[in-house]
Amino acid sequence: MSDVLSADWVLPIEGPPIRDGAVAIEDGRIAAVGMRNDLGAGTHYEDAVLIPAFVNAHSHIEYAVYAGFGDGLGDFAEWITLHIERKARIGWDEYVDIARLGAAECLASGIGTIGDCSYSGAAAVACSDLGLRANVYLEVFGADPAPALESFAARRERVQDSLSERVRPGISPHAPYSVSLELYRAAAELGLPVATHISESRAEVNYLTTGEGPWGNYADLLVKPPGTTGTRLLAEHGLLGPNVVAAHCVMVDAEEIALLASSRTAVAHCPRSNSALGCGVAPLTELRNADVRVGVGTDSPASAPSFDFFEELRNVLFAARARARRPDVLSAADALELGTLGGARALGRGEEAGSLVPGKRADLAIVSLEGSAYLPVEDPAAAVVFGGSPERVLATYVDGEPRYERGGMDWHELTAAAHSARRAMLAVSTSADEAPVTAPRA
Ligand SMILES: [Zn+2]
Repeated sequence: MSDVLSADWVLPIEGPPIRDGAVAIEDGRIAAVGMRNDLGAGTHYEDAVLIPAFVNAHSHIEYAVYAGFGDGLGDFAEWITLHIERKARIGWDEYVDIARLGAAECLASGIGTIGDCSYSGAAAVACSDLGLRANVYLEVFGADPAPALESFAARRERVQDSLSERVRPGISPHAPYSVSLELYRAAAELGLPVATHISESRAEVNYLTTGEGPWGNYADLLVKPPGTTGTRLLAEHGLLGPNVVAAHCVMVDAEEIALLASSRTAVAHCPRSNSALGCGVAPLTELRNADVRVGVGTDSPASAPSFDFFEELRNVLFAARARARRPDVLSAADALELGTLGGARALGRGEEAGSLVPGKRADLAIVSLEGSAYLPVEDPAAAVVFGGSPERVLATYVDGEPRYERGGMDWHELTAAAHSARRAMLAVSTSADEAPVTAPRA
């Protein structure tokens, strides 16, 4: 017995758009994709486009309530100190509450899979509870591999019951300035999927190559500068590869792009986060031309303001077109492919998600265009990318199950729990005997 979902348009991504299209679902998988007339009656969505669920290639859902934390701070040490102080004020239950809100916001934005870097591991619990597909990369930091791997093992053990075929564990050595080469090596030896942050900012590159620049004064917070960029360092030591996803890659030159391509390393492109933190614009067109696997990530509200994947895709387009000074460098259909199949391939999930193809898991989203400027539809991909928003997502399916339906989520409970965690984090910094930490600096 199969379920059939149909809409005015179906965008399989692998294959041309289908007007009056439909998708048949059986046992959590896509059984058929075709014309509504051929696949039979089911649930029809009028004035809507059915797409593969988005793949968010880089997120931190347990930072869902960090909106505005440290915004505009130009000083890295001040920014990181603020985050460390605030994190210390909450415990495991609060992490889970925040991650559950983040997972719900992803589903509400049409996202079916995330590649999440998780400090506590709470993301695994939240994704398992809410039915989101995920690679949960547990973060490790520091110079000495032994304590970092011990902490990794303890966190993995804590979330063991939440791990499954759908929610898989990975490891995230945070970045080449916060993690030693030895720890990168030890992490790689576990044989798990790896996520890391590289070449995000000019300050990072300056510090790693010379030990100087604005971060030079905070060397005690960081690992010893290796005298080369993060991309070159990891490439030289064989630490890039097909199971590595590198977030950001804003500051990469032609040689580094070639290293990412030849090692088959995936890149998670996060244009809103990079813009908001004043890091710059990643060379998306050059990365694509070099055949680097690229996915799109929202990062988290600690930098970008939300998990709104439509906003992220618009920024992918705007950034690429602005950088190239031409509009034909990236189409809406290209952006949509990066945000679905591109992300799935980047996370090693390309065989199961990212496009509507028989045999893949039935992960899909239905986007309403009712009352929008894009009706009647001329280009369904442009309508979704430019006209879409979380408010227009009618449903998000993962494994053939509706994990989100508009109006069906208990937002009150989710936000109340997460906001009480945010209150705990803000508490001390707003007390009367201390100046607000977030005050803009002169
Ligand atoms: Zn990140």
